[in-house]
Amino acid sequence: MSSGITFSADATQPSSRYLHIDITVSAPFTAKKMIMRFPRWVPGSYFMREPLQYVDSIEVKDHQKTSLHWNRIDVDGLEIQIPKDCKEISIQYRVLCFEMTVRSNHMDESHLHLMPPFTWWLPESGIDVQRMDEIHTVKLYVPKDWSISTQIPGKNGEYFADGRDELLDGIMEANPNRELSWIVNGCNHRMKWWDAGGFKIEEDRLNLLIEDLTKIIEEHHALFGIPEWKDYLAVFHFTENNRGGLEHLRSQTSMMPRKCLQQGYEDDYNQLLSLFSHEYLHQWNVKRLKPKEFIPYDLQKEVHTDLLWWFEGGTSWLGDMICLRSGAWDFEVWCKDWKKKLERHFSGNGMHKESLCASSHDAWIHLYRPNPYARESRISYYLEGELVFFCLDAELRYRSKGLHGVDDLMVELYKEHGTIGNRDGIDYKDIRIKLTSMKGGRLLGKWLDRAVREQIPPDISRAMTLFGLKIHANEEKKVGWFGLRTTKKEGRIMVSSFEDGSPARAELMPQDEIIAVDGSRILETKQLQAYAKNHIGGKANFIISRQGVIQSKTVEILEKPQNPTVVSNDGNKLWKRAIASKI
Ligand SMILES: [Zn+2]
Repeated sequence: MSSGITFSADATQPSSRYLHIDITVSAPFTAKKMIMRFPRWVPGSYFMREPLQYVDSIEVKDHQKTSLHWNRIDVDGLEIQIPKDCKEISIQYRVLCFEMTVRSNHMDESHLHLMPPFTWWLPESGIDVQRMDEIHTVKLYVPKDWSISTQIPGKNGEYFADGRDELLDGIMEANPNRELSWIVNGCNHRMKWWDAGGFKIEEDRLNLLIEDLTKIIEEHHALFGIPEWKDYLAVFHFTENNRGGLEHLRSQTSMMPRKCLQQGYEDDYNQLLSLFSHEYLHQWNVKRLKPKEFIPYDLQKEVHTDLLWWFEGGTSWLGDMICLRSGAWDFEVWCKDWKKKLERHFSGNGMHKESLCASSHDAWIHLYRPNPYARESRISYYLEGELVFFCLDAELRYRSKGLHGVDDLMVELYKEHGTIGNRDGIDYKDIRIKLTSMKGGRLLGKWLDRAVREQIPPDISRAMTLFGLKIHANEEKKVGWFGLRTTKKEGRIMVSSFEDGSPARAELMPQDEIIAVDGSRILETKQLQAYAKNHIGGKANFIISRQGVIQSKTVEILEKPQNPTVVSNDGNKLWKRAIASKI
């Protein structure tokens, strides 16, 4: 049934960077005032974005085009006076669309990426609130040579979103590029791409990409079953450097540097496959199987869950395992990626200060608000969550004699809590109960409590041993090390942060510019690394600029910590079974 609310966006003047919005709400009204709220954050990105900052030129009219009185309330509200016998209220405004990320509106002469929580005011009161669960009409007007891709059913600029969540989840991408489509297991898959600089992507690269995506999709279906929803849209944005991904019910927006589709950048291409797999997996894990706290999403205030390690760490782990199982990645690619992850893991020691549950809960003020010292006291529930999944998978496979792994646990939870008619969401207890009821999982409840609720690092070497994977340090001989992270800004090398145990931490500060070391001008980060490498046990004189004042600092050159990050064999039967295709 129609909600009687139409959400229209006019993108026919894209170079203005403004979307012109008209939301019409038809009678009946249930009060003398209608309160509208503008979303403050976007599901999947835990930060108060306040997209209302991009809205201006608000006008409110009735069915006779008479202006109605309104005023702004709170940080996110609009209060509209409803006259007697009013048949319709139309709210019009402009939205500036210049933030180029996967979670925001972006429009220029070449495309529109429409993110609903950055676009629509939503009625909160003044109408029967049940209407928000009915079918909303969404209209989008675009330049003649553009075509629109969206997960919302409909065509030719007119779409029908079934309820509030579908409306808020239904991203739209419009640009002149042709939408590509192909069928996998009876499900239509579509791809709509856009390049931020107008670069033309070679057809054969796109075909190769579709071939690999198909392998990944088939592997997901083999694990979770063929989806009852029969349509999926992948929106790809290619940029110079920006990257990111965001999941939706039947679509994703993934952003990668364009070189990922150019010859000679295989690592970047593999990261694109990994990103796609991660966002694709979210269809099951977070968009349907959800934390209890997210049902329904309250986009007006921060909503906390202790389970982001499950929904992000687990998705990262399984997304990449599926790349490997499907053959889109080979074992060598997995090892290379694993090495990078372990290097990141060993470069910090936040796991002694923050548990995975705490990191999840505080995502709003920690992961999404990093500082140069974050590595010392905070962890990423993506990275550390993934490592815990790897370890838990090894334990479960070992204890069940290879019968099942954590992917099977995720599937079980999805079937019980994530399927249609049974979307009640999960909490920690649900995961624990399901895990301990699985064969081999009986004693893993306490293991899990320790791994995600306590401040201890995961025992990666035990998990590697269970899988028969040998691991050793990268460096063949001892080398020197400053433990410094730097960035290059306008040709200057600036201190950005310190690795765990860095000898430079007490002497230097973030934002110090490193001018010279032991008399040699420093113009590249690799000069610093090379100097430290060959002067183990010595001391180096740093000439820096701190807040514009030249200073001299002495920094010891310590031995670089040797951490096991390199996999040197191909594992035992248990591992082979874990990475075997399920098709
Ligand atoms: Zn994710």
